[in-house]
Amino acid sequence: MQRQSLEPALESLERSNLRRHRHTVERFPEQASHAEVIVEGRRLVDFSSNDYLGLAAHPALAAAMAGCASRCGSGSGASHLISGHGLEHAALEEELAAFTGRERALAFSTGYMANLGVMSALADRGEAVLLDRLSHASLIDGGLLSGARLRRYPHCDAAAARRMLAESPRPPAVLATDGVFSMDGDIAPLAELARAARAHRAWLIVDDAHGIGVVGPNGRGVLESAGLTADDVPVLVGTLGKAFGSFGAFVAGSAALIELLVHKARSYIYTTALPQPVAAAAREALRTAQRESWRRERALELTRRFRAAAGQAGVPLAESATPIQPVPIGSAGAALLAQQALREAGFWVVAIRAPTVPVGRERLRVTLTAAHNEDQVDALVEALSRVCLDSLECRPQ
Ligand code: PMP
Repeated sequence: MQRQSLEPALESLERSNLRRHRHTVERFPEQASHAEVIVEGRRLVDFSSNDYLGLAAHPALAAAMAGCASRCGSGSGASHLISGHGLEHAALEEELAAFTGRERALAFSTGYMANLGVMSALADRGEAVLLDRLSHASLIDGGLLSGARLRRYPHCDAAAARRMLAESPRPPAVLATDGVFSMDGDIAPLAELARAARAHRAWLIVDDAHGIGVVGPNGRGVLESAGLTADDVPVLVGTLGKAFGSFGAFVAGSAALIELLVHKARSYIYTTALPQPVAAAAREALRTAQRESWRRERALELTRRFRAAAGQAGVPLAESATPIQPVPIGSAGAALLAQQALREAGFWVVAIRAPTVPVGRERLRVTLTAAHNEDQVDALVEALSRVCLDSLECRPQ
């Protein structure tokens, strides 16, 4: 971009309602429910976080973090392959492998980096990579970084994915998808994708950033709920900063896969290791999530309550059974107005606009968590129904 184009580019974003503004959000203020935040001086109920289990404010995680910080300090000092790999990282990886039922797991600093690392390690230049059209940006960027030829199949269309795999002149290297789609809340057709990947000998990568901890009878994610094994889905990516209330991510798979990533995933190799106190908090989150399984049930129960009430009030909903509940609004301008109206009514619900979602598919992304209560959910639905009545683009169906 040329230097003189900077201001016009920002003005153009502003004109099309696509300018982003960061708001300072004070999380977990004293004497508030854990679902409340203070945004620029105003107390609001937060329906926008990914803290599905309400663990981010859990005292056990904070204690694990503080205890580890007093023993190990705040920084890991180096990358994993130099001298930054500590006991907490090793223990976290073992526990994640056991939790996901895989031989090994590798802890990354973020989910974004995990996807960059795994995609660029498994897809070689010139090979084909097939992605769901609504895949997360980090899977797309990982594919681009690998130099592979990226192709996208229509959202959740496993038959199209299979056809594209069959048509590929060279055997495709990778088929990748989100488990739960981050902006839509729906779940990929994993059994069909697994069959297609196996038939065409492609790696299947499932990024279960929003499913792990929440979905499945024991919260082990979309693979558990679909009854799929490590054999069906050889590469599983999960995050620790969403349901697990801490920070970081992991790739779980066979011992050989993890060993390859240690050698080839540049976003693992060339970066400072996650601070050990963060790994300690993630370990505690794994234990707490399993011990306090009511958190998962609560998030799902409030999700069902939200859907039933919203349905009755005529608030348009998407097909999602997960705590991610998008409310379609239709344009960036209308979505921003709806966000503002909800803020005035006491709710923090963020408008999701292009390029995060396709133009014309702008929405409010409501997320339910174990930290909410029934009254907050009911009040949100009431406010949403008023917002929808006021918006031409979001009339109740
Ligand atoms: N994958 C998906 C599907 C996500 O939604 C996100 C986070 N928005 C990531 C990966 C990245 O995870 P992290 O925030 O840990 O970088």
